[in-house]
Order: sequence, then C-alpha cells, then structure tokens
Amino acid sequence: MGLETYRNKRDALRTPEPMPPPGPLPSGNDDTFVIQEHHARALHWDFRLERGGVLVSWAVPKGLPLDPRTNHLAKHTEDHPLDYAGFAGAIPAGEYGGGSVLLWDRGRYDCEKWSDREVKVVLHGARISGRYVLFRTGPSGSQDWMVHRMDPPPEPTWQPLPELVRPMLATPADGPPGDDTAWGFEFKWDGVRAIVYIEGGRPRVLSRNERDVTGSYPELRALADAQGARQIVLDGEIVAMDEAGRPSFGRLQERMHVTRPAAVRRLATTVPVTYLIFDLLHVDGSSTLALGYAERRALLESLDLAGPSWTLAPSFAGGGAAVLQASREAGLEGIVAKRLDSPYLPGRRSEHWLKVKNLRQQEVVVGGWKPGTGRRARTFGSLLLGVPNADGGLAYVGHVGTGFSDAALEVLQPRLDALAADHSPFAPEVPREHARGAHWVRPELVGEVAYGELTRDGRLRHPTWRGVRADKEPAQVRHER
Ligand code: MN
Repeated sequence: MGLETYRNKRDALRTPEPMPPPGPLPSGNDDTFVIQEHHARALHWDFRLERGGVLVSWAVPKGLPLDPRTNHLAKHTEDHPLDYAGFAGAIPAGEYGGGSVLLWDRGRYDCEKWSDREVKVVLHGARISGRYVLFRTGPSGSQDWMVHRMDPPPEPTWQPLPELVRPMLATPADGPPGDDTAWGFEFKWDGVRAIVYIEGGRPRVLSRNERDVTGSYPELRALADAQGARQIVLDGEIVAMDEAGRPSFGRLQERMHVTRPAAVRRLATTVPVTYLIFDLLHVDGSSTLALGYAERRALLESLDLAGPSWTLAPSFAGGGAAVLQASREAGLEGIVAKRLDSPYLPGRRSEHWLKVKNLRQQEVVVGGWKPGTGRRARTFGSLLLGVPNADGGLAYVGHVGTGFSDAALEVLQPRLDALAADHSPFAPEVPREHARGAHWVRPELVGEVAYGELTRDGRLRHPTWRGVRADKEPAQVRHER
C-alpha cells in the first residue's frame, strides 16, 4: 500500500484535494470510514476505510445498498491519504475526477474480517449503519468487487424501487366536474407519458407501452444525478416546445424515434425536451401510491425538483372552469381533473382522473394505404385508419391524407412497406369505394389524428395526421368518445 498512485494522478497546483508530503503518514486507529458523493463524469460514491495509515477505497456507482437482496458493484481504487476523509469541494474540470465532492457520511467502523478478497465491516455512521461485506469478484489483484448488506434494511418496512408502475389513466369527459372543492386541476400536456425510476443517481425511463426509452432522452440523466442517493419514481410528460414555447407533439416526433447515441446527442441541442413532472409514486423505500393526490403533490413539491430540463407541472386546487379557459387561451391540449383524495391506481383508467380536451383527437391503427399522385407520387397519398372494437376487430374509421411533413412521409413509407399484408386487417370490411386500390398492412403502426367531428356512422370527418405514437401498442388504442 502506498500513495504513489494517488499523487501521480493529481497535480497539486490544480486541485484543492489534500496533497500530503511524501513519506510515512500518521497512523490512526483503523476505525473510521467516509463516504463521499462524487459528481464526476459518472456519479458514484467513494467508500473509504481507514486502514494501515491510508484510506482504502472503492468507487461504488450506485452507493452502498440498503437492501440485502441487491448487491452493488464496487470498483477498488487507489488508496487515499487520511486527510482526504475531510475533503469536500470542487475538483476542476479536466483534472482527474473533475466535478464536485460532497461528504455524504462519516463515522466509525468495526472490522470483522480483512483479507485481499473479502472485507467485513460494521458501519456506525450518521446516514448509514449496518454490517457490510465487500468481496472481490475478479482474479487476484482485480479491481472488480461487490458490496453486500448483511443486515436487514434499516427500516423494517423499506421497499425496493419497483420494477414497474403502470401509469394511471384518465377517463374522457365533456367538461370539468361540478364540485370544485374535491378536485385538483392540471393542464394536459401534448407529449409522451413517461415514468422515471431513479436510483443511485441513474434514470430508467419507461413509456406507456413499457418500452425502455432512457437512451432517447439523455436530458433526464442530469435529473437523476441531481437526486444523489435519493430513490424516487416520478410520473410526468416529456414535451418538446415550439417557437412560441408551447408543447408541440410535432416537434417531439423528431425525438421519439431516434435511439442512436450520436444522433440523440445532436438532437438534444436542436430539439431539447422538458420533463413536466406531475406525480410521485415512490420515495426512499416507501411507496406513495396509497396516499391521496393532494398528499402526494405536497410530498412532490417538498422534493424541490427543478432543473434545466425538468420542472413540476402546475397544479391548481379547484377553479376547473378557469383552468380550462386558460388552457384554451394558451393553445394547450386541455386539462386533467384529479380527485384530491384519490390514490394512484396503476394501469387503471379511473373516474378519479378526468381529461377534458380542447381539440378532438383520436389514436388510430394504420391498416392500409393508397398511392399518392403528383408531388406525392413516390409515397402514399392517404392512410386507411382503424380503431379496435370491443370484439377485437379493427373498425374502419376513415382515411387521412393531410398533415404529413416531408420527413413524416419519408419515415412512414418504408414502415408501411415492411408491414405489407395480402389481406385487409379491417373487420367489418372497408366500404368498397374506399378500399379500391388500397395496399394492406399488418395493423401494428399506431398514430394520432385531429379531426372536426364524428359522422353518424362513427367515422372521423376531416382528420389531420399528428404523428406516430411509438409509445402506444395497437391494443391500447380505444375510441375517445
Ligand atoms: Mn471518486
């Protein structure tokens, strides 16, 4: 053991980290530990045990686990000098470990076992206490270790971060509910729903159809980093703004289908997104699903969540008609009314949440297309649309030929070609005059249209294409009215 590696990696003139002179170090009692939260290129927690005159150190990307059922990776790093135990501050960008260091916890420890492949300790800290074992997983000398909690979780009722909480859904309504005092009101945002799971400073983002879209929205990494060791599950909407600062589903289309990291990074600067947070589903070992909406909202507000790419969506107690009016004047999609005493009901479309829309919109499943003419001769001219019926058939609801940007045409045509089918997916069948010259496709592509009104036989009058809904499965599409 020695500090050469520590010294070689640092320039004493450029970093405020402690830089002890060479030579023997003062020796303590081998009974103190420190955990530093290090916001470097990747957030991690540096776990250091005083031993033989130095701090033996591991970088733990997700921090020490609080639950014995989950082991965390720990990377054995170079020994640090004893006075590093008091260090907190900024390491200049570009230097080794550049970023900020916070003292997360410090305390005494008892050593139960110490070998070059296993270290068993009992921690007595202010934030963390309990029996832990670190064990090497790689060959001798390897830096790959794991850390395991041997005690039960610190709180007997402590719950791990849930794998999946399905979003609660709202029932369509024609207007806000009458009794204002029992309801809270939010604006309805024209984006994509996203549940964000944060643990160990890292996000996992799931869309409505439970697709992992974390890679498409790198903006949310900073949200997770800012939470430090806090464990939370958030519900909200990812939106892209237009020039007027209004959420634009059309702009978001440019982000929704991109997963290649380089392309995502480029788009994040030209078409940035914002995560509008409106609910809290879990925090630090406790589910909040059973709490009323008003209580969850108060907890959410206490978390102080605001940053460059995320903010709380406003919520109003009462005043539904005024909120709806304001949403119209601001050109927003509508409002959502939420009963103040309603628990969060995962995956349920409940009467406790009501959505009132300013625009008529309908999600649709594409079942076929007809060739275009003139300028659109190379692509489709219109799409044949359906909505699944209760009996499982795809009911024809009309065709749409407007609202497609050039980019949308370019993206959609190959997808239609890939879905080509011999037979019509519609049941009952498309009327003959609409079916003539149609190319059929497997009913897998979900989109959204705006429309003027419904005809008496349930067709969409004057529909306009709004975009692909990659966040929805065909089975999730339903008649809005
Ligand atoms: Mn570090």
